[in-house]
Amino acid sequence: MSRSAHPAGPRHADVLPEGHYSPPPADLNALDPRVWARTVTRRPDGLLEVGGIDVATLAREHGTPAYFLDETDFRARCRAWRDAFGSEADVFYAGKAFLSRAVVRWLHEEGLNLDVCSGGELATALAAGMPPARIALHGNNKSDAEIGRAVESGVGRIVLDSFQEIDRVAGAAERAGRRQPVQIRVTVGVEAHTHEFIATAHEDQKFGLALAGGQAAEAVRRVLARPSLELIGLHSHIGSQIFDMAGFEVSARRVVGLLTEIRDEHGVELPEIDLGGGLGIAYTSEDDPCEPHEIAKSLGDIVARECESAGLAVPRLSVEPGRAVVGPTAFTLYEVGTVKPLEHLRTYVSVDGGMSDNIRTALYDAEYSVALASRASDAGPMPARVVGKHCESGDIVVRDAYLPADTAPGDLLAVPATGAYCRSMASNYNHVPRPPVVAVKDGEARVIVRRETEEDLLRLDVG
Ligand SMILES: *Cc1c(COP(=O)(O)O)cnc(C)c1O
Repeated sequence: MSRSAHPAGPRHADVLPEGHYSPPPADLNALDPRVWARTVTRRPDGLLEVGGIDVATLAREHGTPAYFLDETDFRARCRAWRDAFGSEADVFYAGKAFLSRAVVRWLHEEGLNLDVCSGGELATALAAGMPPARIALHGNNKSDAEIGRAVESGVGRIVLDSFQEIDRVAGAAERAGRRQPVQIRVTVGVEAHTHEFIATAHEDQKFGLALAGGQAAEAVRRVLARPSLELIGLHSHIGSQIFDMAGFEVSARRVVGLLTEIRDEHGVELPEIDLGGGLGIAYTSEDDPCEPHEIAKSLGDIVARECESAGLAVPRLSVEPGRAVVGPTAFTLYEVGTVKPLEHLRTYVSVDGGMSDNIRTALYDAEYSVALASRASDAGPMPARVVGKHCESGDIVVRDAYLPADTAPGDLLAVPATGAYCRSMASNYNHVPRPPVVAVKDGEARVIVRRETEEDLLRLDVG
């Protein structure tokens, strides 16, 4: 990104190159089931509904912007992951994608485990009654307080991320009089991107202990030397929004390689490996994610094959989907405030939220879809950009979209696949209160995270 000033030119005016937009969809009123939560449909009168409640009613009762989460879909996805991996593997939901006490209860009821990576996430998990044995603690810089609380509450595993942390967790376990199960996070030198992976000899990032250069092997030595630590396995997480299993294949091969070294050097076969999360979802109709059963089969086959060729017993596998469980289950509902056609460019449609409720477009160049939700329209397609109300031109929700040409102030727009990393990364930028999360199921809508108010903002500001 350039930090220098430059004359207003294409980067500001953003003249669309020929063929920049993909052609408009045949039917702007149609909903692609890959992108929308399971119970979202367009009713005969044109209104979108979720869980049997139409968006006009939801907007009237809960306001906009708001996240509406399809609880039926969330629970179905939990079951699909659990059933796909069966009794030979553990599924840990990555709480950082979106966490609330209601979500923790659903996970518990549907038989999933939970990853947390901060004291706040751990507190939420414990407050909602997740059994500590089913919680894993992650993070590259866990505080002594976070480690102490995790050890004392009896979390099932702590994933070690540095040499310092080996000493800290061992110390906390000694003080608590416990033997703490741990995994070591290994950096395998695979960086996964959306549609490809790049193998790098030396990964220039903050997580884990590198396989290259022997850091991970040294960590294993140090952990095995600490009686208060029980080394249950190795962990590798290679990235996010991955569609290609090739990255997991390289990762599994390298992790199994280290398991083999550990057996040869220390005479122990570690019982578990965790291949992390990162499975992609469809944000637009162009994304084509795998189903949990395909992922389970593929990962299971990869691990079995690698272990067989190394002469190792197949360890218990765990995975950590976050986005792939919660992402597709929610949409954000906005109200259109202004519509500004820019000649020869596109029409800017401003909504009542923006980068404070969805930072992913600005942060990662993420792509989203959008639909006119409060009515069907026969108007032709209009190239549009859905933007927010914040004081930045980068405040974009959906960069390239088609909306019906009669889209007007007062219309409701729905942006699908905002269940993951939207509310959990929301901010108060411009002192905009964060939107609520409303769970909808079988004709009932229930607020699970309430809307922030101006009072909430002023309460933190102690004057
Ligand atoms: C973020 C993260 C996940 C979940 O990633 P998704 O892309 O949401 O599936 C899983 N494990 C670890 C260690 C993570 O940091």
